[in-house]
Amino acid sequence: MDVNEFRVRGKEMVDYICSYMDTLDSRRVTPSVEPGYLRELLPTEAPQEPEDWDTIMADVENKIMPGVTHWQHPRFHAYFPSGNSYPSILGDMLSDAIGCIGFSWAASPVCTELETIVLDWFGKAIGLPDEFIASSPGSKGGGVIQSSASECILVSMLAARTQAIKNLKKENPDIEDSAFLPRLVAYCSQEAHSCVEKAAMICLIKLRILEPDDRCSLRGSTLREAMEDDVAQGLVPFFVSTTLGSTSCCSFDNLTEIGPACRRFPAVWLHVDGAYAGNAFVCPENKHLMAGIQYADSFNTNPNKWLLVNFDCSTYWVRDRIRLTSALIVDPLYLQHANSDEAIDYRHWGVPLSRRFRALKLWFVIRKYGIEGLQSYIRNHCQLAKSFEALVKKDSRFEVINEVKMGLVCFRLRGTDRLNQDLLGSINGSGKLHMIPSLVKGRYIIRFCVVAEHANEADIDHAWEVIQEHANDLLDSYMIEKVSTIPVKPATAEITPKPPMRRTISRRLSFTRSVSRDLYRRSMSRSSLHDGATPIIVPDDEDNIIPENDNMEEDVFHS
Ligand code: PLP
Repeated sequence: MDVNEFRVRGKEMVDYICSYMDTLDSRRVTPSVEPGYLRELLPTEAPQEPEDWDTIMADVENKIMPGVTHWQHPRFHAYFPSGNSYPSILGDMLSDAIGCIGFSWAASPVCTELETIVLDWFGKAIGLPDEFIASSPGSKGGGVIQSSASECILVSMLAARTQAIKNLKKENPDIEDSAFLPRLVAYCSQEAHSCVEKAAMICLIKLRILEPDDRCSLRGSTLREAMEDDVAQGLVPFFVSTTLGSTSCCSFDNLTEIGPACRRFPAVWLHVDGAYAGNAFVCPENKHLMAGIQYADSFNTNPNKWLLVNFDCSTYWVRDRIRLTSALIVDPLYLQHANSDEAIDYRHWGVPLSRRFRALKLWFVIRKYGIEGLQSYIRNHCQLAKSFEALVKKDSRFEVINEVKMGLVCFRLRGTDRLNQDLLGSINGSGKLHMIPSLVKGRYIIRFCVVAEHANEADIDHAWEVIQEHANDLLDSYMIEKVSTIPVKPATAEITPKPPMRRTISRRLSFTRSVSRDLYRRSMSRSSLHDGATPIIVPDDEDNIIPENDNMEEDVFHS
């Protein structure tokens, strides 16, 4: 493709994207394909000869789009939002065109400089303490863009581990670094994202998963007692990962208590994961939810979740960049440069060497929306979540399980886990709406997240209508099944039986295997001292999370 063809095809692609966005709501939100569908549609070998662009684009619509789950669809309410906006797409397009690899300042100075400046802008906008802002007087900290929250947590743990081993080595200089690993303990709440467990596995350290309180918030006293117990047993607490806006139910750990508990153990690194909710701190009314942030050593939030920036863009700040980079510096001659003393080299702040020019899209988004535009976007989602919560609360068959502070509402039918699995299965199976489940306080719940950029009240009303319709049908079918097991009286015999619900299938649809595994693992991990080095074997059967004695009819008919 030469520049002339690119000029034409590029414009066509923008048109294709615009039509896709404009007509998204006419598509099914989730695909109705079976595993392996694409193998049947594509050749087994790569083409030897160049292909015509129009043929490729025809395949996009006919073969690729049928397998897409449309995360920007107004009926997509699963997970957390996947950030997306036109300024961000254009920023990434330019970054792709420039195509530079900014691993050091010298490799492409503007990549580093823009990243530092934009992270300072954003860090100030969300109200991070001055120590995290690279340009504040005397600051030893600063921000960087990582690929994911998982990576932010991993590098924090690696940095903390290096620091802890250094401390232990002071007393035992002749012992090998790895010999200290069995003594190191990290902590998180049971509500923390599973990536903390993954980081612990990679770092070969123990992870103690603590029980949060009944508001799903990790409390300082729980952490302090666990750390004291471990110290008494000769273990060394070195890392605490907290969450502001947990994945399951958007709960907030109590940093004002956890911070002082950590300070009793000066070698402990306190990380705060605000992957989703951290973005909402651009609004002054949400800043109280980050009270205690002054105790943190590092913080991350993902604009690629809830700030209209396309994946990947996970913003990460540290209080002391030397503590971070001492775990990650490897400095071969071919990567050194004359300005390394004055400049930041982001290759020392994370795992990969090569880095895309990701700051560009964040810069475009912040400038095009302005902080005020971003605040309106967040406020709209929070307001819509409140509207959805109000609808759920009006229907006495349902209950809301979480405190709705952001854009996530966790709800369930008053009844058993199995009933809720069936409800979610039938909704997802219909392709009219997409939501995912989770476990909150040991109960199966359905997560409804406001996701689309321009979501509005009509979308919320529509979603609630779909949920109610499916609930009505489900409860009717349960009622018919129940009635049909009672000795038949003439009146009931006249009810036309509905086709029985296909429970097995609908239950299967309510789970992806990965969600099922995650739930299983997290329920296994409850408050345990999990040795990160030993993989947990997770059975493949998705039904294994349903308690044996799960009596599905009982609760719903009593409610
Ligand atoms: N932390 C929280 C609170 C999350 O909700 C998620 C994902 O949803 C993660 C971490 C992992 O994010 P990532 O996919 O960026 O690694």
